[in-house]
Amino acid sequence: MRHRIIIEAQSPLAFPVRKPGDQFTESLGYVPGGVLWAALGSQRNAIPHARFSHALPAHNGDEWVRVLPATAISCKRHPGFLPHPRAAGESDMAHGVFDTLIDRSCAELLEPAALTYDPRCPNCLQRTDGYGGVYTQRDGRHETRSIQLRMLTRVAIDRMRGTAAEGLLYSPIVVSETNSFQSYDQQTQQKNTTTEQTRFLGWAWELGADEQAALGNVRAVGGRTSSGLGQVHITVEPDPVTATLGDRVDIFNRQFAQRWHMFASDLAPQAAPDWHPDHVRVFTVGLQSDAILLENGWQPTMVFSSAQLEAQTGLKADLVRVQASTQIVGGWNVRWNRPKPTNIAATAGSVYLFRTDASEAEVITALEQLEAEGIGQRRAEGFGAVYCCDEFHGVVTGDVR
Ligand SMILES: [Zn+2]
Repeated sequence: MRHRIIIEAQSPLAFPVRKPGDQFTESLGYVPGGVLWAALGSQRNAIPHARFSHALPAHNGDEWVRVLPATAISCKRHPGFLPHPRAAGESDMAHGVFDTLIDRSCAELLEPAALTYDPRCPNCLQRTDGYGGVYTQRDGRHETRSIQLRMLTRVAIDRMRGTAAEGLLYSPIVVSETNSFQSYDQQTQQKNTTTEQTRFLGWAWELGADEQAALGNVRAVGGRTSSGLGQVHITVEPDPVTATLGDRVDIFNRQFAQRWHMFASDLAPQAAPDWHPDHVRVFTVGLQSDAILLENGWQPTMVFSSAQLEAQTGLKADLVRVQASTQIVGGWNVRWNRPKPTNIAATAGSVYLFRTDASEAEVITALEQLEAEGIGQRRAEGFGAVYCCDEFHGVVTGDVR
């Protein structure tokens, strides 16, 4: 059972990565799952049962927000989702975003003689580059979501004298409590600038009724709450299921087979793989937050391997393709006043493509388990959240969004 968590900022928010104390400490641009977990724990004075994803930037009325898969690319000179059709024609118009996972996998497996896979912008035929970030879908169109950071300057107070302490000026870079963005008004056919309270949208699993009520009463999250930062209003809502896993697996398999047939029949393939999408099932596991993965239970890795998949779900599958990168994650434990352990993590957006001989029902059961449990270590802090068979993989070259 999953719940949607909406966090509305009532004051600037700070989620520093490092120990407070540096003069310029930049906040993360999202609400880490561990922050919500800790806020719930201190509200109830008990270890929470619930698990939280990171809450990502959203606008009022967004049903969901997700991290774009690492396979998404866009024009290098005019990156971004296509603007509203009626706003087209402007010089700074973005050329659209599309996904390369299916096409690149087919090209690598079939090695077409007629084609080197080097995707160009379908609009201007210039070079492309990776395009990451948070996105959603509104009125059938894709849009990015982000927040604004701003710098506060504060002075520390000397506890003895009650006046400004000497040499203790600090300037945290915090999440602004308001978010301004441009939107297109269909009725007036004009671009409007909208300003609203900054909000984040995340998910919670296994949130009991008591914990739901307690979470609604949380008034402050994150760092620097003693100096007035971090005031929030949290709403817990039932999960508005937008696309079931069954539909996503089904659509992904059809799209994969369709592109495979196009590569196989039109582009003179030089390789003959020992499998065919008509006879096996393919599926993806995509990271929605950084994941701390261990191979054989101890070896840090950026690959979510077949062995890890089988150990967690019992599903036997072969890893076909990986698009992943790594970064170091850590944090600061306020209660212990100690740094959290640092780990190598596969970054959010990383994608793992698998194929399997198992039945569709077995695949769906396994993927439902992955989405409900997450993968890897430190999941209670929001690491290892996954979204399987992302619909965005179906946005292929020539069908930019
Ligand atoms: Zn272009």
